[in-house]
Amino acid sequence: MVANDTSPAPLFSAERIRRRVREIAAAIEQDAPAETTIHLVGALTGGFVFMADLVRAFSRPVTVDFARCTSYGSGTTSSGELTWSLEPRDVHGKYVVVVDDIVDSGRTLSGLRAHLERQGPLRLRAACLLDKPARRSCEVAVEFIGFTIEAVFVVGYGLDHAEQYRHLPYIARLP
Ligand code: IMP
Ligand code: MG
Repeated sequence: MVANDTSPAPLFSAERIRRRVREIAAAIEQDAPAETTIHLVGALTGGFVFMADLVRAFSRPVTVDFARCTSYGSGTTSSGELTWSLEPRDVHGKYVVVVDDIVDSGRTLSGLRAHLERQGPLRLRAACLLDKPARRSCEVAVEFIGFTIEAVFVVGYGLDHAEQYRHLPYIARLP
């Protein structure tokens, strides 16, 4: 990997993330009814790396789609209102897993879940690589969680700060 003097130190290594992603895929496969296609809805932009790795960790058919709804500007706290810029395709009758990088206030995931729930999926689940429960302002279910962290700002593995650091293969705490 390409690191330099300005790269923040790892909190979760690439290897640790890889193992956890495999476990999450296995847990989803256990939960999804047999013979059912698993339909993943990736939350852009932060969820794209997790989504790409997760999709390759399954041993049964999956389909993918993406959604983009933002509750963040370029700062480090949630701004409130959700803005939709990409609506996912209809999920009626499907076993659906929303895939996101992190649950912070919970507003993004809550909005996305409510939107998909209205379409009548067979089942609706959420898989988030990171969870910051101390920061929750909006009650929301997350069935599959990679790692629970304190209320710190993290970057890497898709997560950014002002569009920087998404490329890091590990997750780091921003000083
Ligand atoms: P929420 O709506 O407050 O739960 O925010 C969720 C979104 O905010 C995540 O999908 C991330 O894109 C972003 N976010 C929240 N916490 C962090 C962080 O520590 N680092 C980078 N992005 C974050
Ligand atoms: Mg996100």
